[in-house]
Amino acid sequence: MDTPQNRRTFIRKSGLIAIGTLAASQLSANDFGLLNVDAAIFTLPPLPYDYNALEPYIDTLTMQIHHDKHHKVYVDKLNEAIAASKITETSLEKMFQKINSYPVAIRNHGGGHYNHSMFWQIMTPGGGNASGVINEAIIATFGSMDEFKKKFNDAAKSRFGSGWAWLIKNNSGKLEICSTANQDNPLMEVAEIKGTPLLGLDVWEHAYYLKYQNLRADYIAAFWNVVNWNEVNKRFAGK
Ligand code: MN
Repeated sequence: MDTPQNRRTFIRKSGLIAIGTLAASQLSANDFGLLNVDAAIFTLPPLPYDYNALEPYIDTLTMQIHHDKHHKVYVDKLNEAIAASKITETSLEKMFQKINSYPVAIRNHGGGHYNHSMFWQIMTPGGGNASGVINEAIIATFGSMDEFKKKFNDAAKSRFGSGWAWLIKNNSGKLEICSTANQDNPLMEVAEIKGTPLLGLDVWEHAYYLKYQNLRADYIAAFWNVVNWNEVNKRFAGK
C-alpha cells in the first residue's frame, strides 16, 4: 500500500537514515552475488509528499526542479565519481569525516545528496509548531523559539553565495547554529563547526528563486511554516 506512512517508513529505511549504505535491496543475500561494482550505489529518494504539498511557502515548480533535476544530478554525479575513483567506501558519513582525502566531486555531490535527502524529510505540509524535547532544548539553549529563529535566520541570510544554514547537535551534545558553503555540511572535517545536522535550510538560489527571486529573507521566513519538528525531534533523539 502506498500510504504516506508506508512511503515515509520506506524512505526512512531505504534512503535517508541509511544514507551511505547500500540500499537494502542491493544488499540482500540473493542479490549480492549479482551486484555489479559499477552499479549505481546511491539512488534518488522519492519526496515523502506531493510536489505541491508545501504550497504556498515553497512552490510546486521549485519542488519539481529541485528534487527531480538538482538532487538527481547530485546522485548521478556522486555515483559517477565513486565509479571513476574505484572507491569502496559506501558510507557518506565516513567519507565526510575524511573528506579531504576524497575527490572534490565526492565532497560536492555526496554533500548534495546527503543534504537534500535530509531537506525533504525535515519539511512537511502542516508543519511549523515545534514541540517535544527539541522545543525545550531550543528554549533552554537560545532563550526562546523566537530568539533561536532569529539567530538561524541570520545564519541563513548571511551565508554569502550558495550554502546551507544548520541547527546541529555538536560534539558536546549541545545545540548550535552554523552555516556551510556550497554542499558542505557539519559532518565534514572541513566544517568550521562540526556536529550532527538536526535541521538544514538550503539557501542556494535554486531553492527559492522562482518564487522569491532575490528575497532570500522572505523564503527563510516562509520555511518555518513547513518545518517537520517531529523529524527534528527524532534526529535530536538519535533515531
Ligand atoms: Mn538545493
